Amino acid sequence: MLTWQEARRYHNNQKGIHQRGGQILSICASFSGEKRRYHDQLLSEDLMIYIGEGDLTKPQSDTYGNLALKKAKETGTIFPVIAKWNENQYEYLGKWQVIDWEYSPLHGFPAHYRFLLRRVEPPETETRKAKEIICSQGNFHPQKVSYEIERILRDTRVIQELKVLYNYTCQVCNIPLNRGIGDPIVEGHHIMPLGKPHNGPDIAENVVILCPNHHALFDIGAITIDVAQKRVIHVDPNDSLNGSIFVLKHTINEEFVNYHNKYIFKGSIW
Ligand SMILES: [Zn+2]
Repeated sequence: MLTWQEARRYHNNQKGIHQRGGQILSICASFSGEKRRYHDQLLSEDLMIYIGEGDLTKPQSDTYGNLALKKAKETGTIFPVIAKWNENQYEYLGKWQVIDWEYSPLHGFPAHYRFLLRRVEPPETETRKAKEIICSQGNFHPQKVSYEIERILRDTRVIQELKVLYNYTCQVCNIPLNRGIGDPIVEGHHIMPLGKPHNGPDIAENVVILCPNHHALFDIGAITIDVAQKRVIHVDPNDSLNGSIFVLKHTINEEFVNYHNKYIFKGSIW
């Protein structure tokens, strides 16, 4: 951990966003929840959501900091980021870039900027390990990335609330996937998918909360649920998940499960 004096080597500015002449120089992300109910969010070692400049009592405007971050996406600018974990506890997180941003109201707050940042260069001690990871990602597909971004930036309010209801724990395995920092990893899945051609609704009755593994199984149609019996059904009857308990604390509309069974689930329902 660094003190503020030490952290100033990377971010010599009192504001979260340090820019000069519209050029981003560095940012300080705040993961300390003491004062702000809604703060920046580290999604993984290499991905974070950074909330734009300006308080959240009114819509955020195009301040110099927000403009500089938007421009940084266009220019591909790479800049150092420090994290504030607590009072006088900072950490240098390496160099990052803006890969997308969105401006809209979310979670009951007026319109604000959410910048999606990706780390391109970790702090020195981790450089080698990360280089291997970056090499292995050399062939990523843009479509896949934009889907990921959409999912991350637009986690709907319904999903946010359900994640809290389930205490960030998968309804299938009931295991919180601890990532060491912040809330466990859990994802909202729309049983009748949003968007074409399914056009499912974004309502709680159409959403389940799953860990990434079980989300994948749901997506490819390897599992479904029996709402009345609160059980998981696996396409492979011998799989240990088949017949296991499905944790259910909110109402699911079976119409959506029927849709999943008919068009997505690979097995037969008896
Ligand atoms: Zn799970």
